[in-house]
Amino acid sequence: MKRFDFSSLAVPGVQQLKPYTPGKPIAELEREYGVRDSIKLASNENPLGASPLALEAIREGLEDLWLYPDANGFELKQALAGKHDVEPDCITLGNGSNDVLVFLAQVFLQPGLEAVFSQYCFAVYPIACQMVGATMRVAPALAADSGMPLGHDLRALYQCVGPETRMVFIANPNNPTGTWLDGRRLKDFVGSLPPHTICVIDEAYTEYADSERLGNAASWLGEFPNLVVTRTFSKAYGLAGLRVGYALSNPGLADLLNRVRPAFNVNSLALAAARAALEDAAFIDRSRQVNAEGMAQLRSGFEALGLSVIPSAANFLLVGFDRDAGTINEELLRAGIIVRPVANYGLPRHLRITIGRPEQNRRLLEALDRILETP
Ligand SMILES: *Cc1c(COP(=O)(O)O)cnc(C)c1O
Repeated sequence: MKRFDFSSLAVPGVQQLKPYTPGKPIAELEREYGVRDSIKLASNENPLGASPLALEAIREGLEDLWLYPDANGFELKQALAGKHDVEPDCITLGNGSNDVLVFLAQVFLQPGLEAVFSQYCFAVYPIACQMVGATMRVAPALAADSGMPLGHDLRALYQCVGPETRMVFIANPNNPTGTWLDGRRLKDFVGSLPPHTICVIDEAYTEYADSERLGNAASWLGEFPNLVVTRTFSKAYGLAGLRVGYALSNPGLADLLNRVRPAFNVNSLALAAARAALEDAAFIDRSRQVNAEGMAQLRSGFEALGLSVIPSAANFLLVGFDRDAGTINEELLRAGIIVRPVANYGLPRHLRITIGRPEQNRRLLEALDRILETP
């Protein structure tokens, strides 16, 4: 069909918007490169697959697919309320936590208002803010030679906060760096914000992290009405394809988020699977264990190859090369290995690599060894 350019009709925020760059799907790689048996270490999915209890719940839920889902997600919210020791009206369910990040921007931001985030933050924050025409203030990250290279700098973030700042986005641990903030320092930061500035703490990888060090922001909700914590079932619970995440907040704030939430944004299988996954402590334990071992295996493997590795509290590592990483990525694709280039984050010499199962990690290290031999 003849293409017609509608961009001048789009609202200003959309005119300049560049869509999110996702990890390459396995089927696409195999179609384009004619390779087989490929592995994907690109999107921080759980290499063990989905929680078995969640899969069982999905099988049981299939019969009811003709019915609309419970628009209020009653049972899942009950379970989440119990887990986090909050009332169910503190919860906003999302089609992935990406969904609730967009609700936050829609409800609280518009042209003339500001959002603050760090350099090397999760790409969805600027997309959500730009879409609604908010002004974005980007705090410089910690230096590459600091104790937490490329990590969030709370002092720099605080300096970006002004009278028009409605929102600060912080992922702990952060994606794509894997870096983290100390829980006590983060809590002090939230407490230092003015009441009209909402602090969104994105805990997508919290199940992998050491809660002693990073803290549990959900337990601070009673103290800070301007705190929002987001969580997801996409990472440790292994349900990325199902799309379910949520925000925890003060009920007054959740009420506003739920006004813009499409009524049936979380499907019935996702509601049932997420609820079952919450009970699957054994799966989370095993996932943490496999991740810790894989982290050690990859870290020492990368270091043996002379690569620089950023400290990570998540299920991936950001690896630095002494040259542009684009060609290395291309060679890995040819070898049937999908990792994540991060040039779009301003990191052209890095690759973000999800920690896989031991044999996947070994295959990646062997491929990298081969690729790096040829200058
Ligand atoms: C993966 C990820 C999410 C989760 O996205 P979903 O929409 O829940 O799949 C949120 N925040 C960060 C920082 C992530 O890396």
